[in-house]
Amino acid sequence: MVSMFQHYAELLARFAEQSHDGYAIFSADDVLVCANKAFLGTFNQSAATLLGKSFTDIMRLAFEEKTGPKIETQDIEQWLARAQQVRRQREFRLFEVDLIDGRWFLFSEQTLVSGEILLQTKDITKQKILEQHLNERAQRLNDLALTDELTRIANRRSFVASVQSELNRCERLNCQIALLLLDIDHFKSINDNFGHQAGDEVLQQLARLVSSTLREYDIFGRIGGEEFGVFLAETDQKTAMAVAERLCQLVAGSPFSAAGQQLTVTVSIGVATGYNLSFESLYQEADTALYKAKHSGRNQVAFAAAAVLLP
Ligand code: GH3
Ligand code: MG
Ligand code: MG
Repeated sequence: MVSMFQHYAELLARFAEQSHDGYAIFSADDVLVCANKAFLGTFNQSAATLLGKSFTDIMRLAFEEKTGPKIETQDIEQWLARAQQVRRQREFRLFEVDLIDGRWFLFSEQTLVSGEILLQTKDITKQKILEQHLNERAQRLNDLALTDELTRIANRRSFVASVQSELNRCERLNCQIALLLLDIDHFKSINDNFGHQAGDEVLQQLARLVSSTLREYDIFGRIGGEEFGVFLAETDQKTAMAVAERLCQLVAGSPFSAAGQQLTVTVSIGVATGYNLSFESLYQEADTALYKAKHSGRNQVAFAAAAVLLP
């Protein structure tokens, strides 16, 4: 009976040796005392090189020879100290490791009461590649959902979401905010005279022109049709009006081309500024101001003070 169990124990050891999964044991004083071929393969080293070495020596070697696990650090000693801290902190740890050669492994690390660590590794490269494809796809879909197809700037949904989060931040900091609503003047006649395609080209050029002059942290989006929004955080009335004037003059002074012809395009801009406002009230005030600018003759800027405080 004993010899039969002995036989299977030996068989198990042979299986472990030949397994595609890696197996290794670190002693209580953190020396690699046992490892199968697959485990040594993740470090791309021989048994003669790794057996008898401490965990820190093995990782230092991997870092210096740039083989095995990818270790991204400027300071290997600091990295090792941190790695030592997390080892043996829990009885069981599961973590992913990417190798310099591009493969990915799932490591499971079990600490015995007597202090030894049993390590098991599994090649998860295929799953990781699939995961990366899915992530990239999700990212692309997300970008599509947030981008206006024609002008490639933020669409209404994305614009409103970005502004909402800025409104929350500005409310916490109690800083002033500004919204500029830009609407192309007589856009319908551009469509009527030059065709819908020409109208589309004008929208694209306007989006490019305005994008190129705004600061990185200003929020710009197409709210709908030929109406665009610019949100400026931490901006007072004087500055917001100056930005709006500059944009208005820039558009009027820039040559647009559509359907092979050069044309002049102008915009009217409604400006609203205030503190602690909801998007809706800020938008409403800017829209009222825009209406004012349209009725005062277009190609100009109008202001509305949206100093309504939220309850
Ligand atoms: P106003 O100066 O008062 O703003 O006059 P307007 O002609 O610009 O405004 P109106 O609201 O009467 O017309 C807007 C036009 O914009 C009507 C619509 O067909 C056109 N439009 C909306 N979206 C698009 C688009 O994506 N492409 C094109 N080419 N036209 C669009
Ligand atoms: Mg218009
Ligand atoms: Mg309009």
